[in-house]
Amino acid sequence: MKKTFKIFLLCAGTVMLILVTATSLFIYRIKNGFPVKFETDHPVINFPAAKPAILLFSKTTGYRHSESIDAAKRVFLNMSKKNGWYIYETEKGGVFFGELLKNFKVIIINNGTGRLLNAEQQMAVKEFVESGGTLMGIHSAGDFSHNDWPWMNKNLIGASFSHHPLHPQLQAAKVNIEKDIDSTFTHQRPASWKQTDEWYIYYSKPKGVRIVAYIDGETILPSGNLFLIQNKDFGMGKHQPVAWYRNVGQGKTFYTSMGHDTAVWKNENFVQLLQNAVLWSIK
Ligand SMILES: [Zn+2]
Repeated sequence: MKKTFKIFLLCAGTVMLILVTATSLFIYRIKNGFPVKFETDHPVINFPAAKPAILLFSKTTGYRHSESIDAAKRVFLNMSKKNGWYIYETEKGGVFFGELLKNFKVIIINNGTGRLLNAEQQMAVKEFVESGGTLMGIHSAGDFSHNDWPWMNKNLIGASFSHHPLHPQLQAAKVNIEKDIDSTFTHQRPASWKQTDEWYIYYSKPKGVRIVAYIDGETILPSGNLFLIQNKDFGMGKHQPVAWYRNVGQGKTFYTSMGHDTAVWKNENFVQLLQNAVLWSIK
């Protein structure tokens, strides 16, 4: 074998190895989060009296929706000023501690991905909700990167995430508010609007929940087919839930699969839905 051919084979092999390693690490990070660090120092928080306190938690250890996360922070801050709420915004898990959490009315997981909390901190959230608090989740709080937190998957999401469309990734659809639900949500005007988003596809509809909003899944192209993954072209049918709530113990949870990018936070109807969700949480 000629020397140049041997060198070529060696180089090609090295490039392949780098590509396979990088792809494997990327997939691992998307599904589990990497690197992962659990913060355990408890912050000192001066809660203002007589203002409902909201914990906005924006930690990610997997894929990060950076622009949407930052836009959401601005929107929730404005909303809080307008409504007389107190927002505590953090990316550190040390706040998930019973004595601190009991000062909050609502926890919002703002596009969190990957492993976020250790077992003790996850337990603090369960106890917070079961004793009357509300857990809210936005978009990637409901993706497949939270397998270390089965309680949240069951009680916030209630369905198993499959994929999101890729052809194209962002698509316009009409969001419709359901009628027979808590009146805080039916005050939404208009009761339907057009939104461009990354529409999450679940293997089934969420179980044990009240649907707040849905799209007609037959009006979007649901394919998430990718090289070597060719079975992701099914959709969720005409009634595809995109927001839902449920009671858990004395508390409740609200989740919306919408919220991929910064544009949605400029959509006043989407923002109103989130505001209604907080109003419903604290009433
Ligand atoms: Zn997304």
